[in-house]
Amino acid sequence: MTAEAELPDEWTHEPGEMLAFRPGSKVADIDTDATPGFGGSKDDAKALQWERNELLADLQERFYAGSKGGGDTRSVLLVLQGMDTAGKGGIVKHVVGAANPQGVRYTSFGKPTEEELAHHYLWRIRKALPPAGHIGVFDRSHYEDVLIVRVHDLVPPNVWATRYDEINAFERELVDGGVTLVKVAMFVSLDEQKKRLEKRLARPDKYWKYNPADIDERLLWPKYVDAYQAMLDRTSTDIAPWHIVPSDHKWYSRLAVTELLIEALEGLDLSWPPADFDVEAEKRRLAEA
Ligand code: AMP
Ligand code: MG
Repeated sequence: MTAEAELPDEWTHEPGEMLAFRPGSKVADIDTDATPGFGGSKDDAKALQWERNELLADLQERFYAGSKGGGDTRSVLLVLQGMDTAGKGGIVKHVVGAANPQGVRYTSFGKPTEEELAHHYLWRIRKALPPAGHIGVFDRSHYEDVLIVRVHDLVPPNVWATRYDEINAFERELVDGGVTLVKVAMFVSLDEQKKRLEKRLARPDKYWKYNPADIDERLLWPKYVDAYQAMLDRTSTDIAPWHIVPSDHKWYSRLAVTELLIEALEGLDLSWPPADFDVEAEKRRLAEA
């Protein structure tokens, strides 16, 4: 087993602790341009990203190996929430992309299909949970059922109002079943969002990311602030806390989420599974084969 890696010097504070949602914090007050806990520059961050991606990949391989060879049934679930252009896709590409796809289970949750709508909202979520030894990634999640659903009155208030407790109970069940949840809420300023949407409209290679409805959601930002606030207030629990990731600087948000995943995996105390065969005997057999 490799020694537990130190947090790089550029981090002045543990990202997990620094970014954890604190009861009473207000979404409206989030400084989306900030880089909490990180003292380095953009160049430092880019160099570090390579280094930390390698560590993440190494930890993930150990985690996967433990499930295959060691019977470890645990999994990790990264839940990404954020408005359009917040950078969820970039996390998937640049952070999770560093890991071996064999051990990743990625799911993006869009508008529910007719079949999904005919079921309880957690039905499609349960189906997408990561198997043992995998890092599951939810690009949007069950939280849409208290975000867009609340903002657009897709179900009556007395229905969405019960979902916070229901989600907490669901996540308790996951944690008891060996899932480590890493919940990340990414926030960009409205100015930064406008720039990113403009870029999507200016470049044919970005059109595919653009959706005219993004502007409608943008105009509803004040209602989203209330919905995000309620989500954080009601579902940031000891067993599954939310992390607030300021995301105006992509180099920061990517590095921060990388560290959150590294912390989660290191917290699992991973070791390579021992051989279930006689290594020396196998060496002798192979030499003669
Ligand atoms: P994107 O992430 O850009 O592919 O967009 C997916 C869209 O699906 C977003 O506007 C989400 O808010 C929406 N969406 C995701 N989950 C739900 C849900 N449970 N109910 C309604 N809309 C949803
Ligand atoms: Mg979109």
